[in-house]
Amino acid sequence: MSKKSQHWIKECVNYWSSRIYEGDLGVDFSEAHERCWRCGYKRKAQKCHIVPKSLGGSEKPSNLIPLCAQCHDEAPDVSEVNEMFDWIKKDCATFYDTFWEDRALMDAISNGVDLNHIKSFEDVVKYFARYCFLLENNISYHVSQGTGGIRLKTSTKSWIIRKASNFDDEIFKGNGEKIKELEAKIRKEQKHLKCLIN
Ligand SMILES: [Zn+2]
Repeated sequence: MSKKSQHWIKECVNYWSSRIYEGDLGVDFSEAHERCWRCGYKRKAQKCHIVPKSLGGSEKPSNLIPLCAQCHDEAPDVSEVNEMFDWIKKDCATFYDTFWEDRALMDAISNGVDLNHIKSFEDVVKYFARYCFLLENNISYHVSQGTGGIRLKTSTKSWIIRKASNFDDEIFKGNGEKIKELEAKIRKEQKHLKCLIN
């Protein structure tokens, strides 16, 4: 992170910490300079305008919040200031480093994938490890011309979910070591997912 970008983030933290309740964000203010304010992940921050520049939004801290690229891509672009924080409050991280894994599971359920064979925490670990593997190695993000931004197409996502839920799919052959590493990482970091099972 450059010194310049750290400066605007600090200004945002200073400005917003006395104006909004941190329980409505995905971060605590003590870590708000290094985590995305919505998903709570330690990712490179993008300058998200609360009211878009095209609608007259300013470059002042009162109109900025740091979001990761993925959250920035999902954030509302409207003229009403409150909408940004209402949107974050409705769907932000409860714990650090869990938001996107939870989303992956919810996506699987809403895509109608039969998760009946996922019965234990170990199955969840296997599923997420394969989901992450495919995301890193086997798909391409779409650069949208209509709406702008980089995104995962729905059809791509449904392919990932289908593949990831078939633990022994051909596509994973020869990558056992890499998948084991991902499983170990997820097993360690995602203990909270145990509550989703049973
Ligand atoms: Zn984020």
